[in-house]
Amino acid sequence: MSRRRQIYEGKAKILYEGPEPGTIIQYFKDDATAFNAQKKGTINGKGVINNRISEHVFTRLSTIGIPTHFIRRLNMREQLVRQVEIIPLEVVVRNVVAGSLATRVGLPEGEQLPHTLIEYYLKSDELGDPMVAEEHIACFNWASHEEMQDIAAMAIRINDFMCGMFSAIDIRLVDFKLEFGRIYDGDYSRVILADEISPDNCRLWDFTTGEKLDKDRFRRDMGGEEEAYQEVARRLGLLQDDGNPGEVLDMSAHRSRLRGAAPKPKK
Ligand code: UDP
Repeated sequence: MSRRRQIYEGKAKILYEGPEPGTIIQYFKDDATAFNAQKKGTINGKGVINNRISEHVFTRLSTIGIPTHFIRRLNMREQLVRQVEIIPLEVVVRNVVAGSLATRVGLPEGEQLPHTLIEYYLKSDELGDPMVAEEHIACFNWASHEEMQDIAAMAIRINDFMCGMFSAIDIRLVDFKLEFGRIYDGDYSRVILADEISPDNCRLWDFTTGEKLDKDRFRRDMGGEEEAYQEVARRLGLLQDDGNPGEVLDMSAHRSRLRGAAPKPKK
């Protein structure tokens, strides 16, 4: 394969120039960081699993009409996505008190919120991703009023869908982080879902036991992070019995096999 131009290396992913203009390849690494990269490590096989989980979630979300950057998975660690202009916000959606919210408001982790909360953080490693209000977003022109309306509406729909998807496999969706980007069509631009959705940026607790199945295992030195990520993929039906995210349960391969085998429609 010809050498590809690297566009950016982040904490968990590398972005390469895609094969066509307007596309990018997202490469999922095993590297894990926490506390604004003060804690660094690796979670074996994380990149392969997150690539697969994120593909699954983005594909499901597109079936309910959420526009996303996902085009297709290329291989175990890479997916082809649309190039977007990233909106410099981390959009956090919360159903249950945990993490920085527990600290900020002094409530115990695990308390169910009376309604879903959406919070915005400025994407800035130098500043440590400070929380910002919609007033700041408008004042500093990070996103327009219309874009924020679209983002909030999409965040709520994504949350409703994901709560259902995870509760069906006995997982409580505590909170998660989203990122959005703009795509341009002439003078017109619209907002689509970008980045990834995986146990790296969701809090996922087993409904029955409360066991954490996400990156908090790494952040809090609990151990068992590889098994936790695998467990999420397994419950989503994305792993073979041997624990490999192989092609047997690759639904796109499965569907094309079905299409190939389908009887010809009657004339
Ligand atoms: N999150 C993330 N990236 C960040 C900060 C948070 O993906 O830079 C996710 C995190 O995994 C959790 C949610 O956003 O699911 C809320 O995180 P919180 O604000 O509680 O921060 P944390 O306690 O993780 O520092």
